[in-house]
Order: sequence, then structure tokens, then C-alpha cells
Amino acid sequence: MRLSRYFLPVLKETPAEAQIASHRLMLRAGMIKQASAGIYSWLPLGLKVMRRIEAIVHEEQARAGHVPILMPTLQSSDLWRETGRYDAFGEEMLRITDRGGREMLYTPTAEELVTDIFRANVSSYRDLPLTLYQIQWKFRDEIRPRFGVMRGREFLMKDGYNFDLTEADAMHAYNRHLVSYLRTYERMGLQAIPMRADSGAIGGDNTHEFLVLAETGESEVFYDSAVTELTFGDREIDYDDMAQCQGVLEEFTTRYARTDETHDQAKFEAQVPEERRRSARGIEVGQIFYFGTKYSEPMGATVQGPDGKPVPVHMGSHGIGVSRLVGAIIEASHDEKGIIWPEGVTPFHAGIVNLRQGDPSTDSACEGIYKQLAVEGLEALYDDRAERAGAKFATMDLIGLPWRITVGPRGLANGKIELTSRRTGESEEMAPEAAIARLK
Ligand code: ATP
Ligand code: MG
Ligand code: MG
Ligand code: MG
Repeated sequence: MRLSRYFLPVLKETPAEAQIASHRLMLRAGMIKQASAGIYSWLPLGLKVMRRIEAIVHEEQARAGHVPILMPTLQSSDLWRETGRYDAFGEEMLRITDRGGREMLYTPTAEELVTDIFRANVSSYRDLPLTLYQIQWKFRDEIRPRFGVMRGREFLMKDGYNFDLTEADAMHAYNRHLVSYLRTYERMGLQAIPMRADSGAIGGDNTHEFLVLAETGESEVFYDSAVTELTFGDREIDYDDMAQCQGVLEEFTTRYARTDETHDQAKFEAQVPEERRRSARGIEVGQIFYFGTKYSEPMGATVQGPDGKPVPVHMGSHGIGVSRLVGAIIEASHDEKGIIWPEGVTPFHAGIVNLRQGDPSTDSACEGIYKQLAVEGLEALYDDRAERAGAKFATMDLIGLPWRITVGPRGLANGKIELTSRRTGESEEMAPEAAIARLK
């Protein structure tokens, strides 16, 4: 993409309404524009990052054997009356009346909707296990939308739902989700720690939240510092192997790590040596639940079991805060100059800064690098504007691409450009081909 033809409305001033770094930086980098309280338009740079996050989520869900669907944002209240949640959900649910006077709502979570799809189409235990998921907009009329996309009213969520014959099978689905989420967050350059949590409006007693430690997080958490040393890495995993998935769950959840709702000070002190006890703030980027037959029973979602008798299916639901993650990643990875994108989610692989726009040999060197990167499957953002070098550097630092290729007549006289790492700030002079090879 050539910056002269892109739409990157960066702000020079720090917006007064933004209280935390990620919100400030998303506004300054021209990633989002508030439409109304807690509701945002996604501008090109923000959308690109969110699409990369979605792609990782889809890839990891596919790996775990989960099947994508897409359900509507608007639904009728009928299904919610079957489970009693229409009245129970409270004011976070946005209720809408259509022209025929029918009560509708903007989906805050989709257990009822997906259970209705299941009961209409699946009748035998032979069709299980099944996990359906979507990445779709949700609406919750949050009492205090704040921190930009971190607590929006409209937000993008991956929500998945497993249907299993037995509790043991459903717990396998739970474990499978835990493993796939560990992989998902690590690919985004994040450490998200599974913590025992409270199940809230979804229900059930087995639940873990995934938290990214950050001072600006809204959750208070208590944990054994040993949990921060765990990484999933690139180990092989067979998602059908119950024992293997269970083993990962145990590895990551045996040590004490809880949000404040489930925190137990006596247990904390008994289980964790004093020097490893930590209390901190965290951002909830996902949550998994097992809730058994809470929805299948009232909604009559049964399958014929091996003995021919109908049994209600065991279910769980599993969410990832896709739009919140854009903010959470920035909270975890920025400095005073701007964002520092992890490679896994960066909107462009590299930025090209032309130090003397209009100089024929500098222009053609930049063009050559830009095109060669594209041939290699690497998308660059080429700053081809007639701007001062300082302004171009400031923009690149703000938008946080992992690599900057700086091209000027002085270096080119020796056949060299400069390759700079956004994370370390280190620069190295090299031939253009060497820089391209480095980025591959
Ligand atoms: P929170 O405790 O932050 O209100 P939640 O527990 O109500 O979140 P869940 O029902 O667990 O949310 O939804 C799954 C995920 O969706 C959450 O882990 C979070 O990452 C994301 N999410 C929830 N509410 C919002 C929101 N208002 N804005 C952005 N993302 C959200
Ligand atoms: Mg909430
Ligand atoms: Mg929560
Ligand atoms: Mg939650």
C-alpha cells in the first residue's frame, strides 16, 4: 500500500477523552473513530489488525476441529423466553421492537440461537461431538463503556458452542478449547493466563477466564508467579486425544490463578509460597464455560443415545474478545512513541520510508523494494508522501510496524538501505536484497 493513496488519518494531538494508552494510540494512529458511546467505526489500519486476529482465531479453531457458522445479530425474544433469560439478562440486553410489535434483541451471546439450530438438525449421538462457532458482532448495553474498544457496547466476539453426549465428552471439549486458546493468544504475541473465574450470566460451575496482565486491566487477579513462566510454544497436540488435552489443562491451571470473584485468601496463602504470591490487574480476553444441560434441557435439545433413549446434550460455550484484543495487544506492547505490533497481527510487515521523494534513483529503489516484498508475499506500507523525514519516522513509530526500511540518496550511493527494528530500535545498513531476505 502506498501511503499517498491510503487512508491513515493520524492525529498529532493526544485525544483528551482517552484514558489509557491503547485507546489513545488507536485514535492517534487512525485505527478507529467513535460513532457513539461504545460504538466504533473501524478505519483501514484498525480493520487490518482485527482481520489478522480473526484469521488466527479461525485457523486455530479449524485445527481443533470446530466448525464455523454465522448467526444473526438480531434475534427474536422467543428463544430467550424458553430458557428464562429474556427477563433474567437485565439491562445489558438491547431490546428492540419491530414494526409488527414483535420483541427483538441484539445478540449479547448466542446459546439459545445455536441450541435452536442444533435441536432442529441433530438427533443422534452419532453426529456428536460437534462444536459450532462464529465471529460476529455482539451488543451489550454496558453501563460504563470506556477505554475505547476494550469495553465497547458493540464489539466483535468469537463465540463457540460444543454439543456432546456425556459430561466427560463435554469436558474434553472444554479442555480442547483451553488448549486452542493458549495457542491462539500466543500467536498474537500475548501471554493470556487461564484463571478460575465466575460464570456470571452464562451459568455453570466450570469456567476459566484468560487474562492479559496489564495495569489498566479492569479485573483484579491473584496468582502464583510460576504461571507466568508457562508457554505452550509450538508443541504438537492431537486435539482428539483426551488425556493429552487434559494434561495441558492441568499443567496450566493447577497452580493458583484466580480472578477476584473466586479468590480465596486462605487457599492462596496455603498453596503459594509468599515470594511467589502476586496480585495484579488483568484484561479478560476470553472465557470458557461448561454448563451441562442448562440450555439443552429447557430447550429440548436431545439426541438419541446408544440405547435409543433421548438424552439432553452436554454443552459449553467459549468466547474470545476479538475487538478487545486489538486494544489488549497494544496495552501489552507499546512505548512512548507508539504501538509495537507483534509479527502475528501487524497490519503491514514493514514500512518503507523514502527520505527524498521525487529523487529519481531514491524513488526507483523504493519502488523496487516495495514490489519485491510483494512478490515475497510481504505487504509493505510505502511512505511515498512529500513529507519531512522526521514526520515520516514519527508516523512509522506511531503505527508500530515491526520493520522500517529507510531509503535515502546517501545510503544508496553505497548500495545500502537501513533496516530498523521497531521493538529494539536497532538499525543496520545493508543491501536492499539482504533486507528483503531478512524479512522473509
Ligand atoms: P467483562 O467481564 O469484561 O464484562 P464478560 O465476562 O461479560 O466480559 P463474556 O461473556 O465472557 O464477557 O464474553 C467473552 C469475551 O468477550 C470476554 O472475555 C471479552 O474479551 C469480550 N467482551 C465482553 N464484553 C465486552 C465489551 N463490552 N467490549 C469488548 N469486548 C467484550
Ligand atoms: Mg460483561
Ligand atoms: Mg467477565
Ligand atoms: Mg467473561
